[in-house]
Amino acid sequence: MIREKKFIIFMFLILGILLSGFFSGCQETQGTVEEQKAVFPLTIWGDVDNPWDLHKKQDAPDIYEIERRGEKIEVIALSELIDRAQPRGDAFDILFTAHDGFSVLISGKNIAESYIALGEEDRWEAINSNHPRSSNIKNIKDIVIISRSLPLGAGFNVINPVENLAQLSIGDFYEDGFSVFPAVRGTAFQIHEDEELKATSFYRHRQVDIENYVDLSGADSAVVVGHKGEVEPYEESGRLVLQDNSLGYMQNNELLIPEARGLVLNPPDRMITDVYHDTKTLLKQEEKILMILIDGLGYHQFEYARENGYIPFLESLPQPEKAMVAYPPVTPVNVAASLTGELPYINGVYERGIRRTQVPTIFAYTEEQGLSAAAVIGPMGTIELEIDPIYTVRSDEAGRNDHKKTENALEEMNEELRLLFVHYKDVDRAGHNYGDLASKTMQEIERTDGYVQSLLQVWEGKVLIYADHGMHATEEGGDHRHLIFEDMFMPYWLLDGGNWNE
Ligand SMILES: [Zn+2]
Repeated sequence: MIREKKFIIFMFLILGILLSGFFSGCQETQGTVEEQKAVFPLTIWGDVDNPWDLHKKQDAPDIYEIERRGEKIEVIALSELIDRAQPRGDAFDILFTAHDGFSVLISGKNIAESYIALGEEDRWEAINSNHPRSSNIKNIKDIVIISRSLPLGAGFNVINPVENLAQLSIGDFYEDGFSVFPAVRGTAFQIHEDEELKATSFYRHRQVDIENYVDLSGADSAVVVGHKGEVEPYEESGRLVLQDNSLGYMQNNELLIPEARGLVLNPPDRMITDVYHDTKTLLKQEEKILMILIDGLGYHQFEYARENGYIPFLESLPQPEKAMVAYPPVTPVNVAASLTGELPYINGVYERGIRRTQVPTIFAYTEEQGLSAAAVIGPMGTIELEIDPIYTVRSDEAGRNDHKKTENALEEMNEELRLLFVHYKDVDRAGHNYGDLASKTMQEIERTDGYVQSLLQVWEGKVLIYADHGMHATEEGGDHRHLIFEDMFMPYWLLDGGNWNE
């Protein structure tokens, strides 16, 4: 329909240009359609992936004509503006706020006949034909989308190592309100006619009081986690500030985390980056180290497997510590964090698809020192290493190849070998297919327990066993990538090692 209309308009335009050229001698023409710009842009933000500013009608996908009080006016469809902002979740409310602070909240349903128009003095106004007349608000500054069906991980999460406490929506913060405070950037001076004049510059930030939503009184400590894996202690003097579609974390007027994903209360002391530091310390002490990465073994899965008798060998070892992985809890990010000792925003691997680290891995150190090292990994590899890894290509009909990796790892073991890294993957595959606590996933954990045993029975040296992330149940099976306790915590064994045969 719309395309047809456009085509007809286009044809008329061509005709118009031709005619105007023909008659140019005798008639004055109007030129092209003037771009009417609003006095202030209209910002569409909140629970959206793509916040944006509307400056003029032509920024919208289409301009329509409707009749209003007997007059034809040009309008933009509200639904098209919102679609472009990509709302998080299907169900949402819409908050209109005017420049003077007057606000109206309407449901996101039935907005097929809701429009935005440039009204008096070139200021934006809303026309909500199917909603109460009071929603036809003038001089609008913001349209804030407030999600009522926020997908997991699309807001600001508050968790601790055993529980997900709250998932807060950015739109909720707008709706509930915030306080504004000035963050001073600096003061400049100038002498003018013997008089010192000064200018103080600052940003006016919108601060959210997180304690209105969660009780922090029981927490001894907390950290803020950013979208690129930043981790900063949450201090009483720190402030969470509202950005376009996320919260930022500020301290002493400095924005330490531009896009926070949430808050972890009582985080464990252990972090995934300890893998690198512990390994390096041991190498310096002339020890041999076997690093076993069990992909996708969350702490809660380990506990469940232990309680249900799936891991007799791991259970016979000293208790593991609980450790936090780097955000986002996905494999490349945490392989990089564990092998470089740096968080994602520093090591450069902060999302899937990045394979090269910005800082050297532990294998650069073994190379430098002339120490013999090997890495037994799957057919693809996750990040680039400074040594040539041993790719394990063959797998069985179920896609498993950890039995083959175990054989490869056992073949690599010799007197000279100082560092051996083995990346097991079958537990993660099962977790995706069946869910975090499904019996088929537990059976895979049981198999892996056996592989670990066969390695430790031969290896004479220190042992470090860890995971890169956990797993949570989904409708299709399982997944991991959110700031939730199931995905973010893993067991961490640092063992004296030795020969388990003795
Ligand atoms: Zn996975």
